[in-house]
Amino acid sequence: MKLLVVGSIALDSVETPFGSTSDALGGSAIFFGYAAAFFHPVQVVGVIGDDFPKEELDRMAARGIDMTGVEHAAGESFRWKGKYSYDLQNRETLDTRLGVFADFDPKLPDAYRQAKLVFLGNIDPRLQLRVLDQVDKPDFVACDTMNYWIEGQPDTLMQLLKRIDVLMVNDAEARQLSGDWNIYRAARWIRERGPKMVIIKQGEYGAVLIDDSGIFYVPAFPLEDVYDPTGAGDAFAGGFMGHLARTGDLSQANLRRAMVFGSTTGSFCVERFSVQRFQEVGVAEITARARSFGDLVHFDTDGF
Ligand code: AMP
Repeated sequence: MKLLVVGSIALDSVETPFGSTSDALGGSAIFFGYAAAFFHPVQVVGVIGDDFPKEELDRMAARGIDMTGVEHAAGESFRWKGKYSYDLQNRETLDTRLGVFADFDPKLPDAYRQAKLVFLGNIDPRLQLRVLDQVDKPDFVACDTMNYWIEGQPDTLMQLLKRIDVLMVNDAEARQLSGDWNIYRAARWIRERGPKMVIIKQGEYGAVLIDDSGIFYVPAFPLEDVYDPTGAGDAFAGGFMGHLARTGDLSQANLRRAMVFGSTTGSFCVERFSVQRFQEVGVAEITARARSFGDLVHFDTDGF
C-alpha cells in the first residue's frame, strides 16, 4: 500500500546532557521517513531551502525515501534549536526559524495522489488539510499535532479530526486538546469528534492504542542509554505506518503489531542524535528487537 508523509524537513541543533549537534537532519517527515523505510517505501511531501545538504537527498533516495515531492525553494531551510533537561523529560525550544516553511503550499505530484496510507506530521493543520485534499482516496490517515496548533488553530483541528482515522499525540497534547487530565477520558473526547482510534504516546512509559475494541498498551523498550529523544514520536509513527503499508492489513491484530514496531523504531531513534542510529541498523536488528517485546509483557496466568 502506498505510504505518504507530509511534515517538516529540518536542520536541528540539539543539546542534551550527553552532547550536542548542529544543523543535523531532523523534522517530522525525516524521522518518519527513516523509520518507515525499514518496512516500505515512503513518499515525502515538504520543502527545503538552498542550504539543504544535497547528499542527504541521495542517501534517503537509496533507502526508499522518495523525496521527489519535496519542493526546493530559494531561502533557508527550516531550523529548530532545542535543549533537554538532565532527565530528558523536558525540553526547551531555544529557536525556531521557519525559513522556506513560512510560504510552503504543498502540491502533490500525480504519483503521490494514489497514496493509501497517509501520515500528517506535526505542521500547521491548514497545510495538513491541503495535503489530504490532494490524496484521491486514502484508506487510512494518521495525524499528529502539538500545543502550538491546539492553541492557535482549534477550529481547523476540529475539521481535521473529522477526516482522519487515528490521532497520534502525546499525553500532554491529549489533555490540552480535550481539557481533561485523564488520558482515557481524553481519548474518548477525541474519538467522539471523528477519529476511530487514538494513540497516546507516553515517552519512556510506552504508548496506548484506544479504539472500539478496547485498550492496547505497548511499553517503551527498556534502554540503558538514551541520547536524544528528538523525533521519537515521528519515528514511532514511521514504524507503525510502515508496518501497515508493508502488510496491507488494517485488522485489529495487525494494528497491535504495528504498535510494537512503532515502539521499536522509536527506541532506535533515541539511541543517537538525529537519524544516526537508523543509518547503522538493519531490518534484522529492528525485527529482533520487535520480537523481544513479547518477552517484556508475556506472563502466564496459571495459578491466578
Ligand atoms: P518531536 O521530538 O516528535 O517533537 O519532533 C522533533 C522534530 O520536530 C524536530 O526535528 C524539529 O525539527 C521538528 N519541529 C520542531 N518544532 C516544529 C514546528 N513548529 N513545526 C514543525 N516541525 C517542528
